[in-house]
Amino acid sequence: MTPNSYHTHTTFCDGKNTPEEMVREALRLGCTAIGFTGHSYTPFDESYCMSKEGTKEYKACVRSLQKKYAGQIRILLGVEQDFYSEEPTEDYDYVIGSVHYVKKGEVYLPVDESAERQTEIVNRYYGGDFYGLAEDYYANVAQLYRKTGCGLIGHFDLITKFNEKGALFDTEDPGYRAAAERALEALMMCPVAFEINTGAMARGYRTEAYPEKWIIGMLLRMGIMVVKTSDAHSKEDLLYGL
Ligand SMILES: [Zn+2]
Ligand SMILES: [Zn+2]
Repeated sequence: MTPNSYHTHTTFCDGKNTPEEMVREALRLGCTAIGFTGHSYTPFDESYCMSKEGTKEYKACVRSLQKKYAGQIRILLGVEQDFYSEEPTEDYDYVIGSVHYVKKGEVYLPVDESAERQTEIVNRYYGGDFYGLAEDYYANVAQLYRKTGCGLIGHFDLITKFNEKGALFDTEDPGYRAAAERALEALMMCPVAFEINTGAMARGYRTEAYPEKWIIGMLLRMGIMVVKTSDAHSKEDLLYGL
C-alpha cells in the first residue's frame, strides 16, 4: 500500500512546489491523503517560513484544493508550528510542533542551519560544549505540547542533523541521553504522537531518520504512537524513505 505523508512544505514557505503540484504528485503515486504543514511565521527569522500575508493565502489555497480534489484524495491543512512562533493555530486541521531554535538572551540561535553554524553557536554561546546546547534544545522540546498544542512532535532530535557517525558529539554520552530522556518523559504525559522523519535523509545529511533508534525503541516500548513523515520540500521527496 502506498504510504501518505503528513509533513510537507510548499512554495508558501521553503518548499519547491506549489500545494497543487504536491497534490497531483500524491495522486500519481497512489496516496489516499496528503497533509500540508507550512512553517509558521517567526518574526526573528523570515528566511524559511510563511509570511503573515502568505499564511492567509496558504490556508485559502489548501482549503480550495480540498474542495477541488474532494472524492479523489484527503487533503489536510496543517502547520509546522515553531516553538517560538506566536501565530494562532486554531484554523488548522492539525499541528506539528517543532523546535528549530534556542534562545540566548534576546538572540534566537538556529539548531539546523549548517554544521558550521551549529559549531560556531556552540563555541560562542556554550564554551564549546555541545551538551550545553543539547540541554537548552531539549528543554524547549519538553515544552512543545504546552507551547504549541501540537498533536505531533516534529523531528524530536533535530539537533543531531549534522551528527552523522558522531561527527560533532556523542549521543551515547550520559548527559546527552539524560537531556533527551527528560524531554521524552515530559512529552509522554501529553496527548502527542512522534514523527519518524526522513527529511534529513532526503537532503543527504543523514543515513537514518529522526529520531535515533534507541529513542524509537523507547517510544514503542511505552506504546506511544509514531507517524512516518517525509518532511518533503519538493514533490520528488514526497514519500522519500517511507
Ligand atoms: Zn522542521
Ligand atoms: Zn518541516
